[in-house]
Amino acid sequence: MKEGIRKLAASYGFELCYITRPVIDARFIERFNGWLEHGYYGTMDWMREDVRAHRRRHPAEMLAGVQSVISVAMRYTPPGYTLPEACAAQGRGVIAGYAHGDDYHDIMKKRLKALARDLDDLLGKHDQRVFVDTAPVLEHALAERAGLGWQGKHSLTINRHLGSWFLLGELFTTAALEPDETAGNHCGSCAACMDICPTQAIVEPYIVDARRCISYLTIEYKGFIAHELRPLMGNHIYGCDDCQMVCPWNRHATAPAHDFLAPRGENILPGLASLLALDEDAFRARFRKSPIRRTGRTAMLRNVCIAMGNDGDARWLEPLSATLEEPSPLLRAHAFWALTRLHMEKHMLMPLLERSLAQEKDKQAHEDMTVSMRQIKENV
Ligand code: SF4
Ligand code: SF4
Repeated sequence: MKEGIRKLAASYGFELCYITRPVIDARFIERFNGWLEHGYYGTMDWMREDVRAHRRRHPAEMLAGVQSVISVAMRYTPPGYTLPEACAAQGRGVIAGYAHGDDYHDIMKKRLKALARDLDDLLGKHDQRVFVDTAPVLEHALAERAGLGWQGKHSLTINRHLGSWFLLGELFTTAALEPDETAGNHCGSCAACMDICPTQAIVEPYIVDARRCISYLTIEYKGFIAHELRPLMGNHIYGCDDCQMVCPWNRHATAPAHDFLAPRGENILPGLASLLALDEDAFRARFRKSPIRRTGRTAMLRNVCIAMGNDGDARWLEPLSATLEEPSPLLRAHAFWALTRLHMEKHMLMPLLERSLAQEKDKQAHEDMTVSMRQIKENV
């Protein structure tokens, strides 16, 4: 029976497929509670919202009569560059590997639903629900309990044979299936992910402070990014793979035989200037069917401004100056910050900066620019 389920799952692109009971182990509940108590969820208020947090701790409440959880993983192509190559890619931005192609939410959900229909034929009719990322499900806890892999110190799930370049999904069913054995943890004394993290977001093993994590900052967070974090973000413009790239369990990771996310060459280390030039329509067309489209043009271009500021090349003077005219105060403020970081004689920048600051009507943008101005003056 289990082999039949695994074969079906594999036919939909879920190379890993393991079964567990709808239960969260106590140590994962403790991690989750501590994470909430410290406010590590940032602006993701839905994480601490009572009903949803309760469901995370008690997955059985996600489906009446649920007996089993089938935890599946879909692999995607690891980034085709090393971490030093990505950091050294001058004038280019880094997009996390899972976002190089189509939006996994849509693809995985459709395939999980198709798998659920096939399971009806295999197991008889049962109630089922499928989840991909957005539901209140502690997916890494369930994956570890199911034996799919263990939660690494960077908080993502690692499989001994395939590494961690995959995305998780869950199929809850009222069918009683034999559970698999829980996976052991193989991080050992390694702390490579904690050491490499540019923002020191992994505050202790298995705990990521989202407020410092570049994935959260570039994707979920839509506001003004703290000045002290901007220089640490390097050229990351959407997500961050650094902790996965240094993980020894990914050393031999390969691309899947078929990548359902269909990575697009244009999203691999894209040029910053072409991204900052995108208007709303061009942005939507450029990121059609991509998860980046969900984040929106304003947040993405904010990230591009930060990458330009960290790059510091004087050739960004023109595109960043043009961005000072954007209707979005968020974009104006981040373009302003980036301008203050260009490798140019400060006296050449000052007239432009002073004029922009004087003209800025938005209170928050003005405050943000004032901090940037103070920083550039202190460095003069
Ligand atoms: S994704 Fe990047 S910023 Fe977030 S924990 Fe990993 S290395 Fe740190
Ligand atoms: S880098 Fe090391 S500590 Fe971090 S998840 Fe991988 S094995 Fe675990």
